[in-house]
Amino acid sequence: MDEFTWTCPVCNEVLATDSWERLGLMLTTHKEKHETGQAAAVPWLKDVVPEEVLKGNLVTMDEVIEKVILVKDFSLKDSTFKEDTFYLSLVIEVDGEERILNTGAERIVQAFKQVDKGKLPVYVTFEKVMSSGGRRVYRIKL
Ligand SMILES: [Zn+2]
Repeated sequence: MDEFTWTCPVCNEVLATDSWERLGLMLTTHKEKHETGQAAAVPWLKDVVPEEVLKGNLVTMDEVIEKVILVKDFSLKDSTFKEDTFYLSLVIEVDGEERILNTGAERIVQAFKQVDKGKLPVYVTFEKVMSSGGRRVYRIKL
């Protein structure tokens, strides 16, 4: 009677034996098979999920800096962090893919407040510059 059993969570193989010590040895051997590639190795999540799913459609300002961006739509929303401030949510196309860019960069938010949505889509490029106060700020490249 094989009273000691263990089911491998990776390959579902069932190890069965009549001794606890023996099961321990079988388990070690079995795990080694996975580790050395003799049995199916455990995959990484990044290898089984499409890259675009992992990346999501959100981009940061730094990922699109100095690039030509096509702005297809935008919305201004109240900032939940600071009263009387807004953040901007842009639907953009960059490097041939549609992405969402959220920013609270003041100069960019101010500029988009003046944009008539009837004029969309528009191209824009953002740049990062040093302000007079020594802070790095994002602004629209002219
Ligand atoms: Zn296994």
